[in-house]
Amino acid sequence: MVNFVGAGPGAEDLITVRGQRLIREADVIIYAGSLVNPALLKEAGEDCLIYNSAYMTLDEVISVMQAAEEKGLMTVRLHTGDPSVYGAIREQIEELKRLGIEYSICPGVSSFFAAAAALGIEYTIPEVSQSVIITRAEGRTAVPVRESLKSFAAHNSTMVIFLSAAFADKIKDELIEGGLSQSTPVAVVYKASWPDERKLFTTLGRLPETMEKEKIKKTALIIVGNVLGEYYGRTKLYDKTFSTEFRKA
Ligand code: SAH
Repeated sequence: MVNFVGAGPGAEDLITVRGQRLIREADVIIYAGSLVNPALLKEAGEDCLIYNSAYMTLDEVISVMQAAEEKGLMTVRLHTGDPSVYGAIREQIEELKRLGIEYSICPGVSSFFAAAAALGIEYTIPEVSQSVIITRAEGRTAVPVRESLKSFAAHNSTMVIFLSAAFADKIKDELIEGGLSQSTPVAVVYKASWPDERKLFTTLGRLPETMEKEKIKKTALIIVGNVLGEYYGRTKLYDKTFSTEFRKA
């Protein structure tokens, strides 16, 4: 059995209770060493075999899983944040299916939740934005043309941009070309929930110089949108003139 486990955004205590239990029970752990906090591995048993996937290819990862399976051992595949977001789990799952190895997924706290917490914000505010676009700028990984940053700009929705700290110029240019103004508020969260977390507040027009000045080139999320601004609408849920299933107006 292979358990894909979301390790959370970084802080040791932001893994789920289930995820931590699976780490304790694992015979083999393959962790994404580039971003998973190694402190989480302290919970592993003494005999647990630990591999860092940063040095491995997909074939090597699958071979370790297959060898464990043949011995009836349980493998934890530890991915940063939540495995469903840029987790590269689909390609592993397809191989496991081909080999007839059972798998299960334990969700984690994605870095985009930790970033909102660090900023003290809500991504979805009435009258401002009720949608969150999770995306990335095109780098070495291609992004479908219909999902260009420029096309997303038209929605004026909250945007959370992953994997793109090195592309601040591109983000600014494409979003402005798509219709966002230079003054659109932007926040950058570097290493959300880690001890060296940093938060920057800027505007779309000043994003490249802000990133340059602070020398942030990786492990950051770029959050764009008016939910970072002053204006907000209140929800109906707690409005005294609004009846709900539980409360009369
Ligand atoms: N599955 C992960 C994302 C993996 S992709 C998740 O749910 O968070 C890796 C990218 O995620 C990084 O380039 C960065 O954009 C973002 N990221 C991961 N951890 C982060 C953190 N603690 N703070 C800010 N960004 C983070």
